[in-house]
Amino acid sequence: MGFAYRDGAFCVDGVPLESIAQQFGTPCYVYSRAGIEHNFREFSNALAGRDALIAYSVKANSNLAVLALLSGLGAGFDIVSAGELARVQAAGGDPRKVLFSGVGKTASEIRLALQSGVRCLNIESAAEMERVDVVARELGCRAPVAFRVNPDVDAQTHPYISTGLKQNKFGIAYAEAEALHREAALKRNLELVGIGFHIGSQLVDPAPLAAATSRITRLADRLAGSGIAFAHIDVGGGIGIRYHDESPPPIAEFVSAVLREFVGRRETLIIDPGRAIAGDAGILLTRVEYVKPGETRNFLVVDAAMNDLLRPGLYDAWHEVLPVREADAGAAEGTYDVVGPVCESADFLALGRRLDARSGDLLAVMGAGAYGMVMSSNYNSRPRAAEVLVGGGIAHLVRRRESTDELYALETIPK
Ligand SMILES: *Cc1c(COP(=O)(O)O)cnc(C)c1O
Repeated sequence: MGFAYRDGAFCVDGVPLESIAQQFGTPCYVYSRAGIEHNFREFSNALAGRDALIAYSVKANSNLAVLALLSGLGAGFDIVSAGELARVQAAGGDPRKVLFSGVGKTASEIRLALQSGVRCLNIESAAEMERVDVVARELGCRAPVAFRVNPDVDAQTHPYISTGLKQNKFGIAYAEAEALHREAALKRNLELVGIGFHIGSQLVDPAPLAAATSRITRLADRLAGSGIAFAHIDVGGGIGIRYHDESPPPIAEFVSAVLREFVGRRETLIIDPGRAIAGDAGILLTRVEYVKPGETRNFLVVDAAMNDLLRPGLYDAWHEVLPVREADAGAAEGTYDVVGPVCESADFLALGRRLDARSGDLLAVMGAGAYGMVMSSNYNSRPRAAEVLVGGGIAHLVRRRESTDELYALETIPK
């Protein structure tokens, strides 16, 4: 599966990226259907025989074609907004397999989720519990809810993507969890269906995930003593992928670390991976506009920018950059910063890379399938990139490039 050179031409599932660039232009996100399927199956195979739901985290890559593909494989969905709920429904996803996470759900989002019949609202604060109770009463229903508990486990990842520590905004404090559950159990319009956590993203070690699972199962056992039982336990997502020199163990090892904590348990196991499903199944295809030698650094100015792929500028994230036409042996490589046309010094895709590149060459920015297109913006009035999904040897345009008049189509000038 995936991305490989064939006779010197970099291909996705056998289709040359050169031809995709010709057909759809650049910058362009290209996803591998086989790659997404492969990653999903890593989870489903590891969970085979266990009552489980893989709830794909929509925020990682929310293109309808990706959601429809995963829905067809049996995935549920972890969402964080009404917009993501609408996407799941537009893609044919089953709302009964949808979990609604996020710290700031509005009353109208809660109403919409309850009317759509989502499986569970993940509650992140006492105030939100009250709001969900009120909305459910107005609708005359019982809201299926689960507290997101902050297990105070250090995921040992980048501070911006670590979410399970006391100082993070996510989840309710572990110390308050029992009292809040007892309060919720008394509310007639709430039904406690589960409990969960999510400790952060890009975990490269299963140990923190196992530790958090252990803390949650112990909490669930204590609550069982107060007559509170759960239909599911949600262990979040966060399974890391290889961008550079990280070496996360295979997905199966993360899953088995969780399963070891689940021995003898009756609850449905829910896991909500995003990056591990979409991340390495996508690239950002870009063309070199200029080679610009400098006094201290050399630059490749490409047609993709931080508005297309924010991770390097935002998190200092490292993405591999590969030439679409394989370099000849003994090629004259230089050391380049790969930068975009946006007017910010944070506008880079890669720094200090050895490449043999000329104006007009195509480059593939690897590992861009998750938290790529979804974080893109129109900064500098740049139309957003096209998205292509390759499957069965065919490149399908799954989101066309924005046009320039769409950039201001919603704007008006007062008379
Ligand atoms: C973001 C998020 C995920 C997915 O994280 P990944 O690192 O992409 O796997 C899962 N669950 C929740 C609650 C999230 O907020």
